[in-house]
Amino acid sequence: MSTSIPGEPWSTGVARGADGAVTVGGVDVRAFADEHGTPAYVLDEADLRARARAYRRAFETAFAEIGAGVDVYYAGKAFLSVAVARWVHEEGLRVDTATGGELAVALRAGVPGADIGLHGNNKSDAEIARALDAGVGRIIVDSLVEIERVADAASVEHPAPVMVRVTTGVHAGGHEYISTAHEDQKFGLSIAVPTATSEHVVAGALSSSDAADSPAMRGLLAVLARPELRLLGIHSHIGSQILDPSGFEVAARAVLTLRAQLAERTGVLVDEVDLGGGYGIAYLPGEVALDPDRIAKDVAASVQATATDLGTPLPRFSIEPGRAIVGPAGLTLYTVGTVKPVRIDDGSVRTYVSVDGGMSDNIRPALYGAQYHAEVVGRLSTAETVLARVVGKHCESGDIVVHEVRLPADVRAGDLLAVAATGAYGRSMASNYNHVPRPPVVAVTDGSSRALVRRETEDDLLALDLG
Ligand SMILES: *Cc1c(COP(=O)(O)O)cnc(C)c1O
Repeated sequence: MSTSIPGEPWSTGVARGADGAVTVGGVDVRAFADEHGTPAYVLDEADLRARARAYRRAFETAFAEIGAGVDVYYAGKAFLSVAVARWVHEEGLRVDTATGGELAVALRAGVPGADIGLHGNNKSDAEIARALDAGVGRIIVDSLVEIERVADAASVEHPAPVMVRVTTGVHAGGHEYISTAHEDQKFGLSIAVPTATSEHVVAGALSSSDAADSPAMRGLLAVLARPELRLLGIHSHIGSQILDPSGFEVAARAVLTLRAQLAERTGVLVDEVDLGGGYGIAYLPGEVALDPDRIAKDVAASVQATATDLGTPLPRFSIEPGRAIVGPAGLTLYTVGTVKPVRIDDGSVRTYVSVDGGMSDNIRPALYGAQYHAEVVGRLSTAETVLARVVGKHCESGDIVVHEVRLPADVRAGDLLAVAATGAYGRSMASNYNHVPRPPVVAVTDGSSRALVRRETEDDLLALDLG
């Protein structure tokens, strides 16, 4: 027998009951499955709220010690529903959105516009207008074209509050960060000054007078040049699932340096700096999540040292955790349908365990080779374990839910199987591949369960089909 319950990567509300079946937030998974069916996303409300509080407190405490304010924005793209937007707002977080759809959910939840940010590298005119109409606290602009577009949509009487998203060359994700001068990706404006070799690539966009400025500096100057815009500050997001905190410090230093350069050039010292999200979590037993207290202290110490070096007062900071708030709070509950032993090249046998969902409810293994952990949760098995692969029901051999996990040798049809830490980028990236209706998101707390997003039905799918 093997079980990592209770403990990471499971939410704090996951435990084994007296008869060996698992409970989440005090709800037995068998009763849960009877009531809500499978597959289903289970969200541990107390755990999610505690993580939101932990991030806010850790950063408020560490930044208060260096005399700087900090706001925590929940990155809604990780998972957003009306209830979750309310919960995080009740815990003192603001909400970041990246599309009109996410903005609509945050507004429906009653989050005041002032506590909402709008991201996106290609916001439509309609999205910009709606954000301005809602009085969002900030629009993070991502290109020179967009700066003009937002300015055109705003007015001198009601200037749009904007941050300029810059790329510092720091890329992080997984265990280490890498730093490169020129970035070959779509987000933000680079802080790297054009060189002779890169210049011809963007020659059409450069005049001789500003050829020596980085795209980021040109963006900041372009915002200052438009009275319909109010420049709040500079934004940097370096990646996701980051477990090495040094990337945040290097990026923060680059952003604070750019801020000082802008002040030297124009006399404008911007008030705010956003350091983005990306705080890593545990997906597998034995993995260690980034500790909010430690990262907050490290980043605070680092930005204080940088500000001292630069001789500039500290700005107000903000951060944007998504995964770290909702990821560990969620699990996916499936029912096993078939079990098939398959002899593989090295002569050993891999047990393929098929569940009633798959890549339509969790695309991350197929998209990024993401690793997950699974356990049989409807009972406690004392059988020895076998090497298993959990797969879905889709017409695709890459339809893998858990690449490799040891499951009890007596795993069988009808077993309830849970996959840990699926709260982030599970439901939010779900599809209807194979016309599979998307699972519900059900909150559990204090022994009761409540659907936040209902299960999709075939009628929902057919309602879109005009025949
Ligand atoms: C995705 C994203 C986040 C959140 O990232 P996590 O890895 O979920 O913490 C924050 N800010 C921006 C700009 C993002 O694109």
